[in-house]
Amino acid sequence: MNKLTNKIRAYRIKVEGLVQGVGFRPFVYRLAMKHNCNGFVLNRTDGVSIKIEGSKGGTKKFTDELKSTYPVAAIVENIYIEDDKVENLNDFKILGSQDMSDEISQISPDIAVCSECMDDIRKQPHRLNYPFVNCTNCGPRFTIVKDFPYDREKTTMKVFEMCPECGKEYNDVSDRRFHAQPVACNNCGPVYRLHLNDGTVNAFENILDILTDYIRGGKIVAIKGTGGYHLMCDALNEKSVKRLRNSKHREGKPFAVMFSDIHKIEEYALVSAGEKNALLKWRRPIVILQTKKELAYSVSAGFNTIGAFLPYMPIHYVLFERLNMPAVVLTSGNFYEEPIIINNDEAINQLFDIADAVLTYNRDIYNRTDDSVVKIINNDECLFRRSRGYAPQPVRLNLDVDGILATGAELVNCFCTGKGNQAILSQHIGDLKNYETYQFYTETIDKFKKLFRINPSLVVSDMHPDYLSTRYAESLKIKYIRVQHHHAHVASCMVENNLDEPVIGVGFDGTGYGTDGNIWGSEFIIADLKDFKRYTHFDYIELPGGDKAVEEPWRTAVSYLYKYLGKSFLNFKLPFLKNIDDNKITMILSAIDKKINCPLSCGAGRLFDAAAAITGVCIKSKFHAEAPMRLESIAAANIEECYDFKIDKTISFKNLFKEMISDIKKGISESVISAKFHNTIIYVIFETVTKMRKETGINKVALSGGTFQNKYISEGVKQMLTNEKFKVYTQSKIPANDGGVALGQLAIAAKRRNHVFKHTC
Ligand SMILES: [Zn+2]
Ligand SMILES: [Zn+2]
Repeated sequence: MNKLTNKIRAYRIKVEGLVQGVGFRPFVYRLAMKHNCNGFVLNRTDGVSIKIEGSKGGTKKFTDELKSTYPVAAIVENIYIEDDKVENLNDFKILGSQDMSDEISQISPDIAVCSECMDDIRKQPHRLNYPFVNCTNCGPRFTIVKDFPYDREKTTMKVFEMCPECGKEYNDVSDRRFHAQPVACNNCGPVYRLHLNDGTVNAFENILDILTDYIRGGKIVAIKGTGGYHLMCDALNEKSVKRLRNSKHREGKPFAVMFSDIHKIEEYALVSAGEKNALLKWRRPIVILQTKKELAYSVSAGFNTIGAFLPYMPIHYVLFERLNMPAVVLTSGNFYEEPIIINNDEAINQLFDIADAVLTYNRDIYNRTDDSVVKIINNDECLFRRSRGYAPQPVRLNLDVDGILATGAELVNCFCTGKGNQAILSQHIGDLKNYETYQFYTETIDKFKKLFRINPSLVVSDMHPDYLSTRYAESLKIKYIRVQHHHAHVASCMVENNLDEPVIGVGFDGTGYGTDGNIWGSEFIIADLKDFKRYTHFDYIELPGGDKAVEEPWRTAVSYLYKYLGKSFLNFKLPFLKNIDDNKITMILSAIDKKINCPLSCGAGRLFDAAAAITGVCIKSKFHAEAPMRLESIAAANIEECYDFKIDKTISFKNLFKEMISDIKKGISESVISAKFHNTIIYVIFETVTKMRKETGINKVALSGGTFQNKYISEGVKQMLTNEKFKVYTQSKIPANDGGVALGQLAIAAKRRNHVFKHTC
């Protein structure tokens, strides 16, 4: 061996990202042992700091494996390696935490139970059948954290005193449970209790038998999950699922389904490699898949998709072992539009209205989270609902967003707080118009302020004067900025993709308040992070009855037909109007003429509503965005035709409606009509964006807004634009729907703040 290779090397390494509470330090320790390196590792508020000394080969292997084999739940953003002084250290130590600054590091999202822990509950004597097993690689995190740093004392595990055996594991660096804050066992941890509707309470020994009998017998049970209560029943038992639907007052919206394992999902749904990956990862979201084999009809209620996910708590696994059934409906334990229940007393008081049994446990859920929802679009895992397993993971920006609070939209609300250059988006909150949800919103803002040490000096909201999130922003009485809804959508897409330059922005959704006081939602804009210029949009139409038209797409269809064809559309005797009272139609036409309660809208969602109504796919909408979702779900594949349209000052669909009516009259199927309609929207975007490039020279296109959660549209547009050498940017980590608006608001506010600053100095 030559002398050089024996020479001791020393390095100082800093790891940034989500590296605390996920078993990173023990991993580093074991790696150092493996490659005969000495030194130390410690948690700092800005990441993990490592010093290593060892041979050239040993330190090289150490750094290589550090980059490639870190714990599954860690999210490494940056690794900085620098040469350091050789100190001839004689061992490797895990040192105590060092508080560096106010700049806190990250709080881990909740992590699905790992396979080693599931083995432990079959082997370890003190953990036999223990359903709250966890380790540094898995278990609850965000849902139990009350304050920072992440330490048992500051979680809802505080009340459980560790037994000597757990304590030994907790303090042993070579153990998988070293510093696993929620470590617990049969002797010391939380326990389940099963409440039956006759008032009896059962201990864990009997629980699994009773639950199994109940579910197999077609009953509904409420089960406390990681981030809130769930309702569970046999997904193949139509009677049970229907009863669940009725008692939850949930009419058409598909239920999520938990399958026993991946093979069962593959039996009931088409699963691509990307979808399989999303299903199996530790975040365990609900993944929207194409149906292959029917479950009970009421699960998806006519949609050709299944929202599928896999077990993520020990109780899910042990239940499936006994149930011997492929799938259970597992939907949030709440009533229509209210937040998911997290409190045991509330669950017992309220959920017996739906369920035959309520399974509680005695550890509190501090931060409420719903199950997250993703769909694979353009080969990306696109988040539709960002909550358990994702929140509160920050987005790192190239902007100083410190001290900014963005209050979000209203219907699918998330808010966003700025800390340094990190944007911390809240978990999915919901529809603020619901009183309980609004309470959840304000409580969560207060919790985030405390948890992330944020004292907002600037607040930013939507421009809509009546959004509760706008009113909340006003009530703070601090410096305040308002941002246009679709500009915020486009900005959200831009910062997710690290863009900070003028782009062609396409913001398509149902509703957003415009600078002219009308309802916008088919926006072609030239935007940067500070400002935007509206380029064009769809024709405005009257929405007869305002919000009523959103609930009843047939009204919007009538308004479109009246605008483009005059009263003559009545002569066509279109089938969708058969069940609508003639007087009602006359009243609507007269309201449009007299401009009574007919706000103007150009929302793309409304055009989808009209198409869904005219084809008879959805005349009345039972839940948000039902009409566009149903229209998308029936679109035929391999249809290339589209309808005619005209791009003038605004975009006219007069010819589209004429041709669509003619197709209906010819008896062409709604699937083909839907495909032609979708193709039309793709062409409208393609042609408009092409025109914009010609005029401005801008080649980057940012697509955002709920309409881009439509796979057909999003993939079609991206492909056409990419073929023409456009650079196309979409959203995946942050929802393209209103759940992502707060991030855009935050970025715009940061830019405008800097601008104001520059000019006042
Ligand atoms: Zn584990
Ligand atoms: Zn214990």
